[in-house]
Amino acid sequence: MIPYGRQDICQDDVDAVVEVLRSDFLTQGPRVPSFEESVASKVGANHGVAVNSATSALHIACLALGLGKGDWLWTSPITFVASANCGLYCGAQVDFVDIDPLTYNLCANSLEEKLVAAEKVGALPKVVVPVHMCGQPCDMKAINDLSKRFGFKIIEDASHAIGGKYRNAYIGNCEFSDITVFSFHPVKIVTTAEGGVAVTNCAELSEKMRLLRSHGITRDEKSMTKEADGPWYYEQIALGLNYRMTDLQAALGISQMKRLDEFVKRRHLIADTYDKAFGSFPMKVPYQLYNSYSAYHLYVVRLNLLEIQNSHKEAFEALRARGIGVNLHYIPIHLHPYYQKMGFEFGQFPEAERYYKEAISLPIYPTMSEQQQSEVIHVMESVLG
Ligand SMILES: *Cc1c(COP(=O)(O)O)cnc(C)c1O
Repeated sequence: MIPYGRQDICQDDVDAVVEVLRSDFLTQGPRVPSFEESVASKVGANHGVAVNSATSALHIACLALGLGKGDWLWTSPITFVASANCGLYCGAQVDFVDIDPLTYNLCANSLEEKLVAAEKVGALPKVVVPVHMCGQPCDMKAINDLSKRFGFKIIEDASHAIGGKYRNAYIGNCEFSDITVFSFHPVKIVTTAEGGVAVTNCAELSEKMRLLRSHGITRDEKSMTKEADGPWYYEQIALGLNYRMTDLQAALGISQMKRLDEFVKRRHLIADTYDKAFGSFPMKVPYQLYNSYSAYHLYVVRLNLLEIQNSHKEAFEALRARGIGVNLHYIPIHLHPYYQKMGFEFGQFPEAERYYKEAISLPIYPTMSEQQQSEVIHVMESVLG
């Protein structure tokens, strides 16, 4: 099976991890701050906080922004469930903003309409989570302008998007947001096996997130409320979690970050080859915005179902049966039973639902060979033809 995504681990990556295994630190040690620095400096943010997953990063980002009971978090229905669940973890309520039919990102115009309506009933969101679907940035300038007008905070879910650019700057510089979150799961652009980093330009937010990832415990005298009892002393000053990243993971991340641009460039070459090959196929290839450079985590096509004989499901099954490890990103969140129990219904986000009926993610990853890609194209042709 040719998978839809796969990590690229080289000898340097292996050596970096083995070196940590023989060192004094297995869990959070000196490599964690180095990894944080390598991510923050690469994307152009002032601070980085590494944790054990992007899900954890989203959670502590929401907590640091003060999200809680009685608040609303809004995100896109076409994303991994973690982008929404983080709001529920904090006791907040979650709602969705339908997607743009071209980019599949949260639509800034729909956001504006929904904000105007929410303002009238006093239910404005405290946090909005734009997700850079497939690695292509959202319209962050427009969303940021709306945040000023309506007073919400922004967490960019850039789990797909490290190495991508918006307006000639790396996604994650937080010019238009409070916090940006990256995932380092093996199918993403760069991996630490499991891992996440939250970056921000705000020192206070980074300190809050640092505290929350490690039980709410501080060893910094300036943050303590009482005089130290002795050299062993530390204080718990907030209710935190154990979301720490290990030094093994951080070492892998530092080593992988060196190849970030190479990985993204390779993904673009694969995407370009697909674009050319699929020119006359009965489907839409990914639309690319003029002012952005996608990280191309995913290559999603949308079938023109009126022009092909197979149904969406049949096409998907036929591709899998012929060894192409296609996937579908994502089932709209509001259609999951857990969310339907909260009152969400089919029909609420029509663009997202339309997308779900047509989308297929094709294999794209740096080590994909030309031969594998030809095989994907060949099988696509026979399945759609
Ligand atoms: C992968 C992913 C996450 C969660 O990342 P983990 O590191 O696996 O917790 C969150 N949001 C999006 C959009 C993702 O793709």
